[in-house]
Amino acid sequence: MAIPQTFIQELLNRVDVVDVVGRYVQLKKGGVNLMGLCPFHGEKSPSFSVSPTKQFYHCFGCGANGNAIGFLMEHAGMSFIEAVKDLAQQTGLQIPEDDASPQDRERAAQQRQKQTTLNSVLDNAAHAYIQQLKAAPRAVSYLKGRGLTGRIAKTFGLGYAPEGWRSLAGVFADYTDPLLVESGLVIEHADEKGADGETKRYDRFRDRIVFPIRNVKGECIGFGGRVLDKGEPKYLNSPETPVFSKGRELYGLFEARTPIRVAGYALVTEGYMDVVALAQLGFANAVATLGTACTPDHVQKLFRFTDAVVFSFDGDGAGRRAARKALDAALPLATDTRSVKFLFLPAEHDPDSFIRANGSEAFAQAVKAAVPLSRFLIDAAAADCELSSAEGRARMASQARPLWSALPDGALKRQLIGELAEGCGLTSNDLLQLWQHAAGAAPRSRRGASADVQPDAAPPGYENHRGNGPAHYPEDEAFVQTTTPSGQGSAKPTRKWQKDWRKNPPPPRMLGQRLTGGSRADRAIGLLLANAEAWDRLSADDHTMLARLPEPHGPVFAWLEAQLHEHGPQPWAALREALRESEHETFVCAQVEQATAGANPKLELAELADVMDRLRGDVLEALAGLLAARAQGGDAFAYEEFKRVNEQIKARTKALKNSR
Ligand SMILES: [Zn+2]
Repeated sequence: MAIPQTFIQELLNRVDVVDVVGRYVQLKKGGVNLMGLCPFHGEKSPSFSVSPTKQFYHCFGCGANGNAIGFLMEHAGMSFIEAVKDLAQQTGLQIPEDDASPQDRERAAQQRQKQTTLNSVLDNAAHAYIQQLKAAPRAVSYLKGRGLTGRIAKTFGLGYAPEGWRSLAGVFADYTDPLLVESGLVIEHADEKGADGETKRYDRFRDRIVFPIRNVKGECIGFGGRVLDKGEPKYLNSPETPVFSKGRELYGLFEARTPIRVAGYALVTEGYMDVVALAQLGFANAVATLGTACTPDHVQKLFRFTDAVVFSFDGDGAGRRAARKALDAALPLATDTRSVKFLFLPAEHDPDSFIRANGSEAFAQAVKAAVPLSRFLIDAAAADCELSSAEGRARMASQARPLWSALPDGALKRQLIGELAEGCGLTSNDLLQLWQHAAGAAPRSRRGASADVQPDAAPPGYENHRGNGPAHYPEDEAFVQTTTPSGQGSAKPTRKWQKDWRKNPPPPRMLGQRLTGGSRADRAIGLLLANAEAWDRLSADDHTMLARLPEPHGPVFAWLEAQLHEHGPQPWAALREALRESEHETFVCAQVEQATAGANPKLELAELADVMDRLRGDVLEALAGLLAARAQGGDAFAYEEFKRVNEQIKARTKALKNSR
């Protein structure tokens, strides 16, 4: 979605950074500015200031600073678009969406309205539950019995849903309001009538401690409920609603944002009681999944706040199984700059009982000594394998394949192939070859020669992890055909693929995080648009490479090439005009703004050369990764190409070393 720069400006003029920050941080007047405790580094006395005149926040302790949009991105983990939408909604401004039809816009507005209404219904219920807790000594003594203070109960907004079928009738004027059902608070049996001839309706949460589940904005989106004694089920959650999705939300994330930054890692536990108990015991950086296995969405969400995640599991069989699912969810996101660890507590303990028995220090030590993802991956590959026998090692080789394939390309993945091979009693090459043969013997069913390759047909480990949509490999069609047993033109599949590949190598989609996350390609856009004459100094191969980068970068370079082709080299001001109203406008302007801050053309061109060189390296690495995956998929040619590209990479590395 393209949001014009003018709109962003108007939005920033309209919102007050004091209100935006004030939603998350308690601010007090301190001279012309407002002061509060910094949410980014955690502190006892305030060094975080918000300037109403400059519309800026700044922390004198850690240096964090920015405007209202930046604050929402940094602190609430929103994307740029989410932050803009959030602020637009608050100010009542309409985001100009060029591509949206009036109907789409209307629908989106209705959906937002519905969500706001549901949030406020749930907020009302949360307040009522808190009041009811005060009047329920049995519930209070249960919480005290679990070692919780009133302060922690207040932080998490814990409440109590009383006994009785229709307690909420005392909270909401109209108990038959469909919103109560839609928000998941009330259960309705549409085809059953009660004694009064009315449809049967009753409260979902009855005689339970309720834990409000909040989104990162702090809005209540659902509840978890725990029985006080023996009842069943022990834990009950709100159903999926327009505002609540278990596969995406994490309990406690709203409360844990600052503690996660302070501790430097997020601790993922199994339940809301763990989160609250851990906060009580000094580990406020804990969150929990909501009665579901950990999903890649969960992991992705956490990585917006930290680069280090520790999963904590009870030491029983269920804990082991949950850990294995978390491993699967985390593997595709385990890039080289991130740390993922697994903490297994002794069988008789959960985090709460462990800390009470052994102390906080012992728990902190256990977190430090948690099993790194690489170790756990190797363990999972070797699970139930008798490694002293050839059969056991062979089994490990087969179990290791999907795990290893799911990792994003990088140093970790490359090292692990060696370690896994060693465990299997093979060389790395043997193992890759074995996987390749195994795949050849039992070709996995692939979809037909459709240009739109579905995620299950993407090479293992190379799915599109960033978006929710399927990965697209339109230019890989030739390859897909060769691996389709009944594909067209499969008489000499390898040769066709070979030919097409040479003509049209697979796109470097999988530069993945490193590039689409910003950095090099962003920089290249900024530098090239600010110094458009430099475009002609790049080779045709470079032009092709840039135009093929994943979105959003590739299409911008393609646009630039078309512009320069048509009008010749142009200064940035002219390109800026040409960009107006284009889908790339906001993104490109942001990159150029960064590139030209304190610009020195000579230095910029030198930097461009460096950036281009690194991009070429990235592309080679991505290609090698893609080919390795293809090799596993049973393509001998890909295997040969992999070796060739690998040689190039080695030569490059050597040349780089020598030049330094
Ligand atoms: Zn700070």
